[in-house]
Amino acid sequence: MPDSHHRTTLPPPLALLRDTPAGAIFALAAKDALLEGVAACTQRTVADAEWRNGQRTLVLTLERGPSVTFTAAGQHLACACSCRKWHPQSHCSHVVTGWALLKRAVSPESLAAFRFGDRSCATSRSSWG
Ligand SMILES: [Zn+2]
Repeated sequence: MPDSHHRTTLPPPLALLRDTPAGAIFALAAKDALLEGVAACTQRTVADAEWRNGQRTLVLTLERGPSVTFTAAGQHLACACSCRKWHPQSHCSHVVTGWALLKRAVSPESLAAFRFGDRSCATSRSSWG
């Protein structure tokens, strides 16, 4: 299996995420959704990942969960979720979980204080490979 660390060019949503400070996660959602999303990192894994829109959009389907969409809009990473709790002005816990899993996958040294399941990041990294 090739080592994705040495890949120099990431698709736009992942490149944006790599260049975003990990602390930006705390501004993603209200406190309840944030805590729920962070807690879910220990259990959630990515069931499926699909590129759309010429690799400008990454759709992550969480295991036993909804689909979270990350779209590169210029220098902005737009997030959305298919669940009912999601709203453009208040992201749900799934966006937080998906963001954290992806961030950890593209910047393995980040979010060191977070606990991730053994499988979660490896799965997200292999999903887009
Ligand atoms: Zn959601």
